[in-house]
Amino acid sequence: MKVINPATEELVAEVEPLDAEAVDAAVSRARRAAPRWQALSPGDRARLLRRFADVVDAANEELATLEVRNSGHPIGNARWEAGNVRDVLAYYSGAPERLIGQQIPVADGLDVTFHEPLGVVGAIVPWNFPMPIASWAFGPALAAGNAVVLKPAELTPLTALRLAELALEAGLPEDLFQVVPGKGSVVGQRLVEHPDVAKIVFTGSTEVGRSVMAGCAARVKPVTLELGGKSANVVFADADLEAAACAAPYGVFDNAGQDCCARSRILVERAVYDRFLELLRSAVAAVVVGDPTDEKTEMGPLISAQHRERVRSYVSEDAPVAFRGSAPDGAGFWYPPTIVTPSDPADPLLREEIFGPVVAVVPFDDEHDAIRIANDSDFGLSGSIWTRDVGRAIRVSRGIEAGNLSVNSNSSVRYWTPFGGFKMSGLGRELGPDAALAFTETKNVFISTVPTGKES
Ligand code: NAD
Repeated sequence: MKVINPATEELVAEVEPLDAEAVDAAVSRARRAAPRWQALSPGDRARLLRRFADVVDAANEELATLEVRNSGHPIGNARWEAGNVRDVLAYYSGAPERLIGQQIPVADGLDVTFHEPLGVVGAIVPWNFPMPIASWAFGPALAAGNAVVLKPAELTPLTALRLAELALEAGLPEDLFQVVPGKGSVVGQRLVEHPDVAKIVFTGSTEVGRSVMAGCAARVKPVTLELGGKSANVVFADADLEAAACAAPYGVFDNAGQDCCARSRILVERAVYDRFLELLRSAVAAVVVGDPTDEKTEMGPLISAQHRERVRSYVSEDAPVAFRGSAPDGAGFWYPPTIVTPSDPADPLLREEIFGPVVAVVPFDDEHDAIRIANDSDFGLSGSIWTRDVGRAIRVSRGIEAGNLSVNSNSSVRYWTPFGGFKMSGLGRELGPDAALAFTETKNVFISTVPTGKES
């Protein structure tokens, strides 16, 4: 697999893709590593995860630089992403000693529950945030006592491979956390089908997620799905319009729009629609698009030539483009921030996940209309509500069918709060205080206290 720098189109590395036999061998090794990990005391597992977090922290610049070259992310973003892995590991290093069960009152005995680890967890991740998304799976899964086999996306294997080396440097047992690069249809599919992989955590497109779910169903294998989105950024007339407009480009163009939480539909109350578009135009013009190694850059290129063609195909010659930002010419898979104003609710610009820097702006009449349009989507991952009316903020938050909403903000993911989608955006939740539990089975044990020989 050729790894190409999306900002320069230069070859960065070549990585050997694994075949199904190599995946089987990795799963066997993981299966042997899991009981050794579980045999350690919870405190020792916690200490090793804290050490892993420290080693990742010390390697922040190295990991960030590698991600800039592999994914074209602006250096500031890439540093945040490596820092997020550190934070996720540090947060879930608190889990091993806290996976406490229950003691439930019963007659003639004692009844307790245990949160047993699953064994081997398979994590399949996409190319858009290679480091954070992988850690949202391997952090809590390891903390719950499991071994993890991680399949990175074909286009972005480099930081995942480096993280596996750092785990060993930190002292995690051999084979506990392995990375298996290769094709989705070979390596990913084998993890889904493998009888010794106890759970799949999948992040990626809705289309592939559906087939992963079907594969898991064949084995009654638990699965978490984090899929696509078409999130709404709802701006009411009473909002701080300047703040909403200044923030809007970063709510959709962050990571060049290759973000499952991108607010790619902006719904604006009709009374302030023209004024908002005017403010948005200057905010978009101010977005710094260019060389990802430059500290001032806010948006880099798209991940590949093929993906750029896909994004471009949504914005045809006669597309309702209101205005565009800038993008460099020459080498690199650049695409400028683009604002469109489609009027037909069936327009793919309003219905499909473009996964690029393209945002559709549409007017709405009132609160009811805003909720109706926001929910007129197969997806339900995130969204924002801009208003000064607290009651309305709560009503609309409760009315929108999405897993992660922000009021007067476009933030989506915090490692200590739950994250995931409604409808075709996914199944299950990652992150937050309960994530480690999702990598366990609950076992109930009844212990009789009736003297031997007197049982009924
Ligand atoms: P993708 O679905 O093409 O690939 C995701 C992963 O699945 C890759 O590692 C790929 O190799 C693997 N894969 C492909 N075919 C497979 C198969 N048959 N069996 C098992 N694995 C297989 O997605 P992508 O293009 O890499 O990423 C973009 C998508 O990811 C977007 O739709 C985006 O919204 C979504 N995403 C969702 C979230 C979230 O948390 N909800 C986060 C980031 C990205």
